[in-house]
Amino acid sequence: MNIILFGPPGAGKGTQAEKMISHYNLPHLSTGNIFRENIKNKTELGKKVTSILDAGKLVPDETVVELVADELKKETYNNGVILDGFPRTVKQAEALDAFLLENGKSVDAFITLDVPEQELINRILSRGQGRSDDTPEKIKTRLEVYRDETELVLNHYMKKDLVKEIDGVGSIEEIFERITSALS
Ligand code: AMP
Repeated sequence: MNIILFGPPGAGKGTQAEKMISHYNLPHLSTGNIFRENIKNKTELGKKVTSILDAGKLVPDETVVELVADELKKETYNNGVILDGFPRTVKQAEALDAFLLENGKSVDAFITLDVPEQELINRILSRGQGRSDDTPEKIKTRLEVYRDETELVLNHYMKKDLVKEIDGVGSIEEIFERITSALS
């Protein structure tokens, strides 16, 4: 099962992905985590994307698509994946669809977590992960980028009738329950 976990920054994608990994026994692919890991390890990719992540902007599509395609070729993902933070643009979505199709696969479900904007800001500011992009100014940029570029990905998968809208306000367990019933 190939599942996209979608939503604005602070919607709880990472938290729900953690729970879904063990429930569905699927691997998790978070492009944000991969970028942060590369920055920490000072790799070439890390150096290339540091200032972009710091600014809360998007890494260029070609870089992200290449990274995800290389990753998805690994055996680990043979039975599916939980994609978190990808695709974030319509171009990325189209590239993902094409890549999966070439490999005889497809997106099976698109879960979007709905959370009001003020709640998103409060959550990010209080989660204290020490991320350099978790400051009020950067959060504003990330939410703008989400509205301007990422939200269009929702329409892309709406047209394919794959979208499951989940109320992302409530306890972690309540939200997880909504996700599993939507997928059943
Ligand atoms: P996340 O952990 O998903 O919030 O991602 C953190 C940051 O990594 C984002 O603000 C972007 O700078 C970058 N990033 C992660 N995923 C993508 C993507 N699919 N496309 C472009 N940039 C991304």
